Amino acid sequence: PYNGPSADEILSKRKEFLSPSMFYFYEKNPLHLVHGKMQYLFDSNGRRYLDAFGGIATVSCGHCHPDVVEAIVNQTKRLQHSTILYLNNAITDFAEALASKLPGDLKVVFFTNSGTEANELAIMMARLYTGCHDIISLRNAYHGNAAATMSTTGQSVWKFNVVQSGVHHAINPDPYRGVFGSDGEKYAKDVEDLILFGTSGRVAAFMSEAIQGVGGIVELAPGYLPAAYSAVRKAGGLCIADEVQSGFARTGSHFWGFENQGVVPDIVTMAKGIGNGIPLGAVVTTPEIAEVLCHSNYFNTFGGNPVCTSAGLAVLRVIEKENLQENAHVVGSYLKERLMAIKNKHEIVGDVRGRGLLLGVELVTDRKLKTPAKAETLHIMDKMKEMGVLVGKGGFRGNVFRITPPLCFTKEDADFVADVMDCAMSKI
Ligand code: PMP
Repeated sequence: PYNGPSADEILSKRKEFLSPSMFYFYEKNPLHLVHGKMQYLFDSNGRRYLDAFGGIATVSCGHCHPDVVEAIVNQTKRLQHSTILYLNNAITDFAEALASKLPGDLKVVFFTNSGTEANELAIMMARLYTGCHDIISLRNAYHGNAAATMSTTGQSVWKFNVVQSGVHHAINPDPYRGVFGSDGEKYAKDVEDLILFGTSGRVAAFMSEAIQGVGGIVELAPGYLPAAYSAVRKAGGLCIADEVQSGFARTGSHFWGFENQGVVPDIVTMAKGIGNGIPLGAVVTTPEIAEVLCHSNYFNTFGGNPVCTSAGLAVLRVIEKENLQENAHVVGSYLKERLMAIKNKHEIVGDVRGRGLLLGVELVTDRKLKTPAKAETLHIMDKMKEMGVLVGKGGFRGNVFRITPPLCFTKEDADFVADVMDCAMSKI
């Protein structure tokens, strides 16, 4: 039993000592979590919740997966230190294993502590390699909150009014709300236009997610990435895939999100699921591009430290040992079917989308006008929590459920999520 501080005490300390910018879900009655086990979370009263969102918040194998915990504890007992200056096998073992998961010549790894850091580094490397400054990213994207990554992020709600130069945001190839529907090649024409009319004709890079996470699980229209990559490469630019949310087996059919569109990027960035909750990110690129960091001195004190990379290696092994990619495919496809059936039953569901265990349900008050059902989304989310299921919320308009559970989710779990969602919707 839990006998630490109460939720009210924690809230009042947060108010006094933490940044007022920090937000939390379930505002009227925030969740006070004290324990996690695989796909379950437990609150301070011992109540169990099925976690259908922890995947995005970093957990790929399951909360406190014993193999990952053991790897972290063992390495912490042996040695935790900076990544730089001395040799240690944890970083090389993980780098080798990670490189083996990537296609082509993508085999040089640089570790960071977060997704933002990984994307910042990727953008800098592209600028150094090409000698160009301009970057193209997508409207509705989220890539981080430091200088360059806040520039590439394409949603006003995550941006501040500070200098963000040289970034052009292309029309989002959003099959549900976009002007060209599911015609990826038509959207890619906008990338060509941005290069022609907004830059010198040469660019440093194009950066995008394969399925936008924060943006509300928007799967880029088919055919988009091959056409966009080709336009960018003609302009001398590199193609950066942000796999922070869509990587690490989550889409089920493939290990990386970009593989769903049949492209091979020049730089791949990752974080979140890579460490099952431990702060870890990485940039993987080709030996030739990696050379640019030798032009000066560059390091990251903790990026790739022994404890975090031991966790990373354990995560990769668990994904393989427990067939989690296959599971994401099977359970994710099943859950998507169940969500489609909910769409047929409830007018409020405008769209069901995504792949594997990266699924989205967009709620609208009018299917034709696609009017965002923001208040209803919050209401249903609260009701689902009361019934023991946690889902995420996202999208620029705050009307999309994000369903991104740990990859150990079962069909029974999928049924429970769908039944609870159906029941909550029936009541409004
Ligand atoms: N890229 C994507 C696609 C993300 O979703 C996020 C975080 N939501 C980031 C980058 C930034 O990662 P971090 O918060 O670890 O800096």
